[in-house]
Amino acid sequence: MKSAKNSATVYLVGAGPGDPGLITVRGAQLLERADVVVYDYLSNPRLLGYCPRAEIIYVGKKAAAHSMPQEQINALLVEKARAGLCVVRLKGGDPFVFGRGGEECQALADAGIEFEIVPGITAAIAAPAYAGIPVTHRDFNSSFTLVTGHERDDGDDRAADIAWDALAKLPCVAFYMGAKSLPGICAKLIENGMSRETSAATIQWGTMPSQRTVVSTLANLAADVAKAGIGAPAITIIGKVVELRAALAWVEKRPLFGQTIVVTRTRQQASEISRKLEDLGAAVIEVPTIELHEPQDLSEIDFHLKRAGEFDWICFTSANGVSAARKRLAAIGLDARVFGKAKLAAIGSATAEAIEHQLCLKVDLLPESFVAEALAGQFEQRNEISGKRFLLLRADIARPILRERLLDGEAAEVRDVAMYETRPASELPAGLIDAIDAGRVNWITFSSSSTARNFVNLLPEYHRRLSRVKLASIGPITTKTIRDLGLTPAVEANTFNIDGLIEAIRSAPQ
Ligand code: SAH
Repeated sequence: MKSAKNSATVYLVGAGPGDPGLITVRGAQLLERADVVVYDYLSNPRLLGYCPRAEIIYVGKKAAAHSMPQEQINALLVEKARAGLCVVRLKGGDPFVFGRGGEECQALADAGIEFEIVPGITAAIAAPAYAGIPVTHRDFNSSFTLVTGHERDDGDDRAADIAWDALAKLPCVAFYMGAKSLPGICAKLIENGMSRETSAATIQWGTMPSQRTVVSTLANLAADVAKAGIGAPAITIIGKVVELRAALAWVEKRPLFGQTIVVTRTRQQASEISRKLEDLGAAVIEVPTIELHEPQDLSEIDFHLKRAGEFDWICFTSANGVSAARKRLAAIGLDARVFGKAKLAAIGSATAEAIEHQLCLKVDLLPESFVAEALAGQFEQRNEISGKRFLLLRADIARPILRERLLDGEAAEVRDVAMYETRPASELPAGLIDAIDAGRVNWITFSSSSTARNFVNLLPEYHRRLSRVKLASIGPITTKTIRDLGLTPAVEANTFNIDGLIEAIRSAPQ
């Protein structure tokens, strides 16, 4: 969205601590509007889902290896704003808490560019919260202090201005820092009179599925953190409130905490299953294996949609088919009234939901089992085939079984129209093969035969690589495909939908 003015506003947006749900509503809305998004390594890349059309510029790796120096980032923000673009500068946590947001604003102010700050939830509050540590408690502390243990990368060691004697007297202190500074911090506090027995915790990747927490005492924390192999990014919190974790830890109790699950779906559908798995505590890696495309020649679709009211039954076999129909109707200036008195049948509860939500129509027939055979069986039972007209709005790769059984039952007309084309994805996401090889992937979900086939086509030596990974299948047809590929699913859903798939994973031994 280009501003009418010569230069536009730069929004410094706090991305929150990691969990993509912890960005503010204002922050998410600005991402949706942005022409350019400038982000660094602590802001979760998942947030970029809010801005699929924006130019995305990645400017920062870990503290030690900045991929773009600060002056250049400042200059970039100025340049993009002067070009009249709506710029979001997305920063981990809160932009003004040890985030150099102040410096970026100064540069914008100097250049006469308008800016707005959208605060975010800072790591020192969010990471302890997810570790079951309230940062204040009436019985323990009436102050909570944030300190950076980082040394400045320009060599000007302002962290040295820390009044260690004062800090050592405080009841609750959080340190933002690389784990490297930890031995020095603990030693300084002890030297300055803080008790060696003070409770302390270090939390790595707070609020993320990979969150890890080490609880110890001030005297032992550095050694325990090193032993646990905890590195950046990590927050350390020192004070009696840490003891509350024993009773208040909650993240680790979520049923899929610690499980890394690969979700193979079409890009359009991945988010629902991912969100549900993440709510249960899993770390999700999304792997789009098929892409949906509008068919080049739309004349057949348009022709049959226009005459949809002449059919007795319209059958939808996927939520994508419903969206495609809705989109096409809008494109040709029509709406769901074209279905007239035709009855609607759906395979799968997600398909039925899409009909109800997207087309605002009631579904007349939804077989309990979400496969084409079940729908054909229902039509047969109800004597609904002979002499009736059927319009099947489906994917290009649907199995022919429904059409065949309707024709066998002497339907008067069966029109089988591919609403969208599916093409296999051309590559796996970066780092996935390494994660599988390192044993970091616990599960892979397959929600259709084509996702299973496309996934193994993209994974060299898949037999060997998948021997230690548990495979979850959405139903018997997908299971058969997985077996035909020479693999064995660890679980199969009882109800052949996303919830069934998730339930099967939950109830399997982890
Ligand atoms: N502006 C950020 C802090 C940037 S400084 C904020 O408000 O949170 C970077 C430091 O923040 C890291 O070295 C680490 O100490 C801390 N940090 C950021 N995200 C974190 C997370 N998810 N878990 C633990 N510490 C985190």
